[in-house]
Amino acid sequence: MTAATDPGNDADLAATLSARLAEVRERMAAAAARAGRAPSEVTLVAVTKTVPSAVVRIAATIGLDTFGENRVQEAQEKIGALGNVSASLRWELIGHLQTNKAARAADLFSRIQSVDSLRLAEALNAHAGERGAVLPVLIEVNVAGEASKSGFAPEQLLEVARMLVALPHLRVEGLMTVAPQADDAESVRPVFRRLRALRDTLAATVPTPSGGWHELSMGMTDDYEVAIEEGATIIRVGRALFGARPPLATH
Ligand SMILES: *Cc1c(COP(=O)(O)O)cnc(C)c1O
Repeated sequence: MTAATDPGNDADLAATLSARLAEVRERMAAAAARAGRAPSEVTLVAVTKTVPSAVVRIAATIGLDTFGENRVQEAQEKIGALGNVSASLRWELIGHLQTNKAARAADLFSRIQSVDSLRLAEALNAHAGERGAVLPVLIEVNVAGEASKSGFAPEQLLEVARMLVALPHLRVEGLMTVAPQADDAESVRPVFRRLRALRDTLAATVPTPSGGWHELSMGMTDDYEVAIEEGATIIRVGRALFGARPPLATH
């Protein structure tokens, strides 16, 4: 694992990030090719939790434009700090969202990947509605049923999906999952396969106004290649780009 990036020297840092990005893109392309898919079918979300704004700013100059954050407050600070870099930057929420922060999140993020309760979905719908907006969301699924993880159980999905697609100010675009931690990426392949099967079932049984259910957000630093082989359309990669996070900052 690469060491945490030192924001001391911007040119060195840009070169380091560029090299890591090139490697991730190469591996993404190889994984897509193994599955007979085009690399353009997979969106890379660069996960910037715990990464300082100064580093994210440099990342935005080397070809990264979509960033994932877990916490509203941290994201708000970075979005403010990078506001003048480019109008085309996208920020997506990938972590658990408390309902009392739904209004701020609906304002800040291009998409909420981590919708994990009906209450939250209703709050996001209400706040998007107040702004006359339609907010893109993914439904988070706890495929492996881990007590430590948020997300709906697979058994709840059909009913939840029917309720969410009826909310006029949300656009349900697909599913998201965080696979269990494993030493061997191969061992989480069934989790990704299951998420894809769940998505295919929903696509066949729950029509959305916008023809949704396209997106499958799955795969992180340790398993994104397997996820792409199993159909991921979005991968969320932090450490492979920015280096190891501080040990306690596992949020
Ligand atoms: C931290 C995080 C990631 C990125 O994890 P890496 O192992 O650093 O690639 C992806 N998704 C979620 C939900 C995360 O919290």
